[in-house]
Amino acid sequence: MSPQSQQRPQRQPIPKLGPRMTRQRTAVVETLRDIDKFASAKVIHRALEDRGEKVGLTTVYRTLQSLSDIDAVDVLQTPDGETLYRYCLTDHHHHHLVCTKCGRSEEVEGGPIEKWAELVAARYGYELVAHDAEVYGICRACQAASA
Ligand SMILES: [Zn+2]
Ligand SMILES: [Zn+2]
Ligand SMILES: [Zn+2]
Repeated sequence: MSPQSQQRPQRQPIPKLGPRMTRQRTAVVETLRDIDKFASAKVIHRALEDRGEKVGLTTVYRTLQSLSDIDAVDVLQTPDGETLYRYCLTDHHHHHLVCTKCGRSEEVEGGPIEKWAELVAARYGYELVAHDAEVYGICRACQAASA
């Protein structure tokens, strides 16, 4: 994830991608919309195959990377180093509460983090560029499943 991606005032909504919206990108975005939670490239690749899309895993990685470059998808590094992708629902700046078991996530406000980031930057004389914070947990469904 590029450090600025969270801070850019507006993300470009998918329908406005125009000429950059290739068939491959469309297929990947539609699949991400269906999955509706954070998923690894391998899971996304499998879902594409299930839809009858013949795309190589390398192409999926590259497409996801290019989509994240234009802020069309959210990218997340899990604590164990896996990269997960999700089609993002919200245009404005937000954070994620992510289930470590199933990848379900909620889009949440940063609350006191927003002010804290400004204070920390100001205290050390830095011009604030971006901040990043995700919260991890186990969702209700996964708690119930393991109970
Ligand atoms: Zn998001
Ligand atoms: Zn879960
Ligand atoms: Zn924030």
